[in-house]
Amino acid sequence: MPESLSIVAYLIAGILFILSLAGLSAQESSRRGNLYGIIGMLLAVAVTVLSQGMHYGMLAVAVGVGGIIGVTLALRVQMTSMPELVAALHSFVGLSAVLVGFGSYLMPGTEGGTEQVIHEVEVFVGVFIGAVTFTGSVIAFGKLRGIVGSKPLLLPARHWLNSLLVIACVYLGWRFVGAEQADGVRSLGIQAGIAGLLGIHLVMGIGGADMPVVVSMLNSYSGWAAAAAGFMLSNDLLIITGALVGSSGAILSYIMCRAMNRSFISVILGGFGAEEGKKPARAAGEPEGEVVPIQATETADLLRDAKNVIIIPGYGMAVAHAQYPVYEIAEWLRKRGKNVRFAIHPVAGRLPGHMNVLLAEAKVPYDIVIEMEEINEDFPETDVAMVIGANDIVNPGALDDPSSPIYGMPVLEVWKAKTTIVMKRSMAAGYAGVENPLFYKENTRMLFGDAKKNVDAILTFLRSDAAAAAQ
Ligand code: NDP
Repeated sequence: MPESLSIVAYLIAGILFILSLAGLSAQESSRRGNLYGIIGMLLAVAVTVLSQGMHYGMLAVAVGVGGIIGVTLALRVQMTSMPELVAALHSFVGLSAVLVGFGSYLMPGTEGGTEQVIHEVEVFVGVFIGAVTFTGSVIAFGKLRGIVGSKPLLLPARHWLNSLLVIACVYLGWRFVGAEQADGVRSLGIQAGIAGLLGIHLVMGIGGADMPVVVSMLNSYSGWAAAAAGFMLSNDLLIITGALVGSSGAILSYIMCRAMNRSFISVILGGFGAEEGKKPARAAGEPEGEVVPIQATETADLLRDAKNVIIIPGYGMAVAHAQYPVYEIAEWLRKRGKNVRFAIHPVAGRLPGHMNVLLAEAKVPYDIVIEMEEINEDFPETDVAMVIGANDIVNPGALDDPSSPIYGMPVLEVWKAKTTIVMKRSMAAGYAGVENPLFYKENTRMLFGDAKKNVDAILTFLRSDAAAAAQ
């Protein structure tokens, strides 16, 4: 394929990727955004394959095997396990950046002089970012899967240790540039090992409720690793794509940090959210007050009498697959003139946008799905706040208990509603492992049991009462 044609095709693919990101930023346009991304990627792969002298047989086998694994995983993965899958995929990007680095260094026929120095610096940077991304993502996968403990590993002087690892990498990089090939490979190998340790240590230092930011930060790192691979391979499209992923991941991390009241810089350094050498504190003492249980039938009565209802979905709703009957309850109430809205916390569930995806799946109209910042002031005028399988995101301790590990994280202020119903199976803590004083508040009622079963029961009561009234 002529070079000018492939440049134009790469440019079109780059524009499609930008349009894709723009589309994905709003629910209404997300399908279109996804489609742009798919077309852009197909174009990018086709042009790359046609413009390089490749062994098509081997390529077909690799694409075939990879494609089958990818499709199987994507079809089987539960929405709640998505962050794990994303972390695993990031690790591949990191590993491939490392392999591309070694490959392009060992490739014969590299020019000497300044160009060679620039190329070696690219290799060094690519292998560094790739190795950090690879091991960091493997640890993030382990933590999300529960294979690695979710508590942060807070070694004494850990920031010094991180600095030392970075300095060692820089020193090895200095030795690597301009070295004989055998020495160069050795320096690069040791550097990759040290950068890998840095990735492990950075993510091991992060725990509990802070994992969402880590997943999105690793997303950003994987983008920069891809961009570095693009420099090594002199592939403009890979540079553009990597930069888009890298910067959008960084922007998402920044937005999430703001939503959780965390410092962006300390996330990049790792081990944020806990003081140096100090184990994260649990909320002090037992919460005051009594736990008051409620039944599904009484919940139905409360909903029937309410004018303003806010539904707060969380991780438990996703696990129970309760979004479909929840939507039906919302519709039932809306048809009877009630103001029903869904309140979304930015880190509800287990991945950014988790609740939005579930609600969209259940066909909940976008205009009644409201973000935390917008809806928080409406709770005092709300008759019933119905919390479905959410816990950390509605924890008042985040606002008023400085000893709480999630202190400072903005939360949905559901306790300000006239009555707050919390649906969960037990008194167990949520992801952050923190006691929740909400359950003991005077106006809180606990509806224990599986969210789907309870929501189904409420719906049945609402419908049967309506049917009885109609007779
Ligand atoms: P939480 O994990 O805080 O709480 C979920 C609650 O759901 C649990 O307390 C559990 O209580 C209940 N539950 C579980 N299964 C069921 C079921 N079948 N029926 C009814 N209830 C059930 O979830 P939130 O959504 O409130 O908060 C999200 C947390 O996850 C935050 O700490 C966030 O930082 C973290 N996180 C978020 C990510 C993101 O990107 N959104 C990624 C990774 C972590 P019980 O066992 O008693 O039923």
